[in-house]
Amino acid sequence: MSQLPLRAQLASALGRTAATLSRATGRGDGSVIGGRVSLLLEPDLLRKLAADRRLALVSATNGKTTTTRLITAALRELGDVASNAFGANMPAGHVSALSAAKDAPYAVLEVDEKYLPEVLDNTGAGVVVLMNLSRDQMDRAAEIWLLAQKWRRALAGKPAHVIANCDDPLVTWGASTAARVTWVAGGQRWREDSWCCPECGGPLDRKGADWACRECTFHRPEPNWVLDDEDAIDPRGERWRLNLKLPGQANRSNAVIALATAEAFGLLPHQALPRLREVTSVAGRYTTVARDGRSLRLLLAKNPAGWLEAFDVSSAERPIILSVNAQGPDGRDTSWLWDVDYRILGGRPVYVTGERRLDLALRLDVAEVPFTLAESFAQAVAALPPGDIDVIANYTAFQAIRTEFGRAE
Ligand SMILES: [Zn+2]
Repeated sequence: MSQLPLRAQLASALGRTAATLSRATGRGDGSVIGGRVSLLLEPDLLRKLAADRRLALVSATNGKTTTTRLITAALRELGDVASNAFGANMPAGHVSALSAAKDAPYAVLEVDEKYLPEVLDNTGAGVVVLMNLSRDQMDRAAEIWLLAQKWRRALAGKPAHVIANCDDPLVTWGASTAARVTWVAGGQRWREDSWCCPECGGPLDRKGADWACRECTFHRPEPNWVLDDEDAIDPRGERWRLNLKLPGQANRSNAVIALATAEAFGLLPHQALPRLREVTSVAGRYTTVARDGRSLRLLLAKNPAGWLEAFDVSSAERPIILSVNAQGPDGRDTSWLWDVDYRILGGRPVYVTGERRLDLALRLDVAEVPFTLAESFAQAVAALPPGDIDVIANYTAFQAIRTEFGRAE
């Protein structure tokens, strides 16, 4: 890699020092504060750190942390890969990730949906991965169409090769101004945000996986890659049994997108897939922690689409603990809980905890799902018999449980 200019070197080094101090004082992994210090000293640092590398940017409402991890695992087949593995997905986190792996010829960066245009401009990334767009919490509902429109503007006229999920109409629309797109039929579990054509506002007709606007020519493109239950089908028609360690259909979808992305870097499925199978947990998600003879599997669900994915992974034979908070990163408004169908939980022991347990309790009561309220997470665990338990929590509730039960990777 070419040498960074002196000012950029200094900014990068000071950022790493700040990150180390932050870690030493117990304030998290330090990647955000480190990146902020660096960007204050050298606002153009992201551009400089990205130069001379081959980059993939990964954006979506759900699954971007996991998919970033899967793509990173695959590209290690080619060499060192810089990545923001802990989900610090705004420019400060990107600066920090690239500073920490200065000589890595590859980088895979998870990017917050809103920051994608800025980060694409700054890094000139050659590959952009777009997976799904749905509302994150109610207070952001109006933004997603505007986001897709910003993606369109950002991609137009750039050489980036886009890997996009063509089962999501809004993502398809967001990606379709790109110079080159590989379409992946990765599935779409949450459809409530895509009944209208993003191009003209007309109704979308759906038939199986296929969709088309009734009033204009906008329709689902022919996919190059297809997720077919347990298998990925590549552009040559060859079938690959995924056999991932990560559970659930959502992760199989993430894996097909990762395989398509790896191929954009020249890696074929027989090279990339064994690497994907090595990934067992992502930033604590799907981790199992043990306490007092109970084995707790941790599932994160930040928004309605995420809850559906967590239900899909969760095992119907296990008791389940649900924990909901409403702090800043969760969104203060919990009315999105009403968008989720909880009836699938009927018939299993359900414990409800977290700061907003009463909101969730009311929702379950209306859905006629029996449950028990617990004052704390520990109380819910203690009330259940020894054995396997699934835990679904939203963002800060999940972090609180991880802190209490250890930050196992
Ligand atoms: Zn239309």
